[in-house]
Amino acid sequence: MEHSVEQVIETVPFCFGQILVRKTGDDFVLCHRNDEAHDDLEIFQGPEDAIEIARYDDAGNFRALKTAPNLRHGWRIELRTSDGLKRALDHFYPGRLAIFIAWKTGRLRTTPLRETLGRQSGMYRIAARISDSQIDNLVADFCRSKDGCLRTILWDRDQRGAIASTRLPKEKFDPTWDQVQAPAEPGASTFANATTDRAILATIPLLCQEPCNLLVAACRKVVKSE
Ligand code: SF4
Repeated sequence: MEHSVEQVIETVPFCFGQILVRKTGDDFVLCHRNDEAHDDLEIFQGPEDAIEIARYDDAGNFRALKTAPNLRHGWRIELRTSDGLKRALDHFYPGRLAIFIAWKTGRLRTTPLRETLGRQSGMYRIAARISDSQIDNLVADFCRSKDGCLRTILWDRDQRGAIASTRLPKEKFDPTWDQVQAPAEPGASTFANATTDRAILATIPLLCQEPCNLLVAACRKVVKSE
């Protein structure tokens, strides 16, 4: 079992969100998972190049949520050191490697949505008035892997342990599943299991330990629109 970021990134090749990480000679090579067979990619050689690559999607739109499934295509980053790889992955998906290690070692605390909403102040205080059924629908639309967010949800709707949304497939809450190949609804059968694929390629999940600010803002919008 890998207990540090260094140990995790030495398990190349692996997938991390929409990124494929391989080793060519001594170099770590990163590209979009869909670009593995492409040889016409733009080459970069610095970890900080990931910042610019992650900023906009293929259409040039700003990516407010870095774990949205809209990472742009057409690039390849070649890095000499594991430290560079660690930095690049952190630019693509800020904090996600550290959260994964915390989860693996049993040190990750999750925060229910109602707790997050309850501590909002100012213009976001009203977001706590959202109903359970509104949360059910909003989380299903906002967080779904297909076109919302690739993170695996670990938080509950409330302190009693209610599921975040009954309209999401159960795999959305299971870190052993590859969210890149996710169905939009419960019961669909096309979901790829990262464990099953492990002999071919390991997949490091992007974990969501507490509702993000964008979801809080969306909750406020639902309440305000009533
Ligand atoms: S709450 Fe988590 S899963 Fe939902 S959109 Fe925000 S980061 Fe993604």
